[in-house]
Amino acid sequence: MHFHQHGYVSADPRIEAAAGYGIDRPEELPDEVDVLIVGSGPAGMIAAAQLSQYPEVNTRLIEKRDSRLVIGQADGIQARSVETFQAFGFAEEIMREGYHIVDMAFWNPDPKNPEHIIRTGRPKDDEAGISEFPHLIVNQARVLDYFAQFAKQSPARITPDYGIEFVDLQVAEVGVGSGTSGSADSDHPVTVTVRYTAGERAGEERTIRAGYVIGCDGARSGVRKSIGRTMTGDQANHAWGVMDVLANSDFPDIRTKCAISSKHGNILHIPREGGHLFRMYVDLGEVPADDARKVRETSVDDIIARANAIISPYSIDVKNVAWHSVYEVGHRLTDAFDDTDDTTPGSPSPRVFITGDACHTHSAKAGQGMNVSMQDGFNISWKLGQVLSGRSSHELLRTYSAERQVAAKNLIDFDKEWSTLMATPQEDLPDETYLQDFYVKTAEFPAGFMTEYAESMITTAPRHQELASGFPVGKRFKSARVQRTCDSNFVHLGHEARADGRWRIYVFADGAAPTVGGGRTSSTGKTGAPGPDTSKVTQLAEWLEFDPASPLVRYRREGEDLDALVELSVVYQQEHTEFSFPDVPTVFRPHVGEFDLEYVEKIFATLPDEDIFEERGISRDGAVVVVRPDQYVSGIFPLDAHDEISEFFEGVFLSEK
Ligand SMILES: Cc1cc2nc3c(=O)[nH]c(=O)nc-3n(C[C@H](O)[C@H](O)[C@H](O)COP(=O)(O)OP(=O)(O)OC[C@H]3O[C@@H](n4cnc5c(N)ncnc54)[C@H](O)[C@@H]3O)c2cc1C
Repeated sequence: MHFHQHGYVSADPRIEAAAGYGIDRPEELPDEVDVLIVGSGPAGMIAAAQLSQYPEVNTRLIEKRDSRLVIGQADGIQARSVETFQAFGFAEEIMREGYHIVDMAFWNPDPKNPEHIIRTGRPKDDEAGISEFPHLIVNQARVLDYFAQFAKQSPARITPDYGIEFVDLQVAEVGVGSGTSGSADSDHPVTVTVRYTAGERAGEERTIRAGYVIGCDGARSGVRKSIGRTMTGDQANHAWGVMDVLANSDFPDIRTKCAISSKHGNILHIPREGGHLFRMYVDLGEVPADDARKVRETSVDDIIARANAIISPYSIDVKNVAWHSVYEVGHRLTDAFDDTDDTTPGSPSPRVFITGDACHTHSAKAGQGMNVSMQDGFNISWKLGQVLSGRSSHELLRTYSAERQVAAKNLIDFDKEWSTLMATPQEDLPDETYLQDFYVKTAEFPAGFMTEYAESMITTAPRHQELASGFPVGKRFKSARVQRTCDSNFVHLGHEARADGRWRIYVFADGAAPTVGGGRTSSTGKTGAPGPDTSKVTQLAEWLEFDPASPLVRYRREGEDLDALVELSVVYQQEHTEFSFPDVPTVFRPHVGEFDLEYVEKIFATLPDEDIFEERGISRDGAVVVVRPDQYVSGIFPLDAHDEISEFFEGVFLSEK
């Protein structure tokens, strides 16, 4: 962690100094806000956490519940989510707390006695090593707690406004290219009616004005209805009897995740964090539209009896039911995730966004709901932060629906295939290991790593992909290990990126080692012609630090650190013993904070037996990898493509100079 740049910190370094709207943040929901988040589920809480890093944006989150979520709902945390938690600073803590899925066992009817089940396979959960992060099981309530802690400790000091319900909203027309500035109305054109659901004001309605609204209010979303979006998809829901129980059992895989298919039905079995506890999803089948919620009357005793029939000859002896529910869900999707159909550049930009279950729902079998919802919330919140802090044009907001609607659609298609296969009796599948093979083959999808954003103002075409084939443009930046030069520590490059709203440029050097005298030294006030080192990386460094077209120069505000908007890291091909940080161009060791301290921890060397250049297919001629705040690769550039880099950022940021 990096935290002494503003002076010595002796208390918990995760608690950042309050700033902007975080200073004396009012308890009461104000009449006017920049961003109103509706709902404190995974989508809403990650959005609040991200926006808490933008203290100049007045963000509030309303939740109709009167306090935090206590129990139940989703529990499967995909590796991509753990990677995201790393950026929010709580991956290690949640990994300690969670149940780690290592294998997944498949059980099917015993051909010799079809009344009984036998284990037919136990593949590794991540056979191909898709991620260095684990696949975890942790209750949704804990995930929300961690985001809440991050939001509260960040500069904007955001905490949910519990006990306030969204009722309706209206968006006033503010004209073409709206929202850039102007009257209060054009900045806050959304009038939202809310109602207090708890406390002294329970039942009272009031209106507030918002610049933007993010609807994170779940499958029955009122925000979605208020903007006229409808869910389309399955006519029937699929129902599961879900129970979290403390039980004894002779089933040998009671502490292993299992897909169990028997003559008597199917179970998705999930051991839970903390020992003893496990969750069973007992398949209750398709529920016709005219069921009138009868399936919801299925009792926990029925669910337990069914479970015992399915796992015969084994059984469970339930001692305590911690939570149970009948969870009904279909594959449904809205056609867009915001309130505008007009995507013409310059037309009024969207003002209302919907995320998570409010715009797409999935089966529980692939465990996607919470995971994909978090990525929605992450995506829209940094974009709103960037637009509202005047860094980018409103056009950026259109990319939210364009990116996430397609991601959700692809996921639903995958989930349909997986849940259909899981419900197919063993004898109807092409062979005994068909389901298991499909699980292994498609593992990247449910792990959350198949999202690939198309070309847009924030994603280039993959013109230079061959320079870094292991960082596909549009996909999330896949970390690899390097060695920090200043202190010889082994670090995972991607794990260093915080969810602080900054963009990142990773410079992978050409073969030349850094040499003293390469370039000017702005930090000491000296300027002059480049020194004898004319390697491409040194020339790039010179351009990045001094050229008016460089993103670090052009978009930097008066008084800001060099790395305030875009953080720069450099990785050399040499080992860390072959050079020292003073040999490296000054742009890679910027001076930060009021004490003007040189920051030398973003200079890395290659590991001799784990060469990142080999592992990620990076050209020995070097490459520049640009990564956006939510960790997706925006573009790859040759080291000397200064104009191209400049042009790319011109489409992203608004000029300061
Ligand atoms: C009862 C239940 C059980 C579930 N069980 C499972 C499961 O077993 N496995 C699984 O994978 N997934 C399960 N899910 C789905 C999973 O929890 C969701 O996919 C995931 O939580 C989606 O996150 P979200 O943030 O979009 O919405 P949610 O987590 O649904 O959060 C929406 C939030 O908005 C609040 N809200 C709603 N309306 C308003 C309003 N008008 N005003 C203010 N606040 C409002 C809600 O109280 C809630 O806190 C379950 C969902 C529910 C509701």
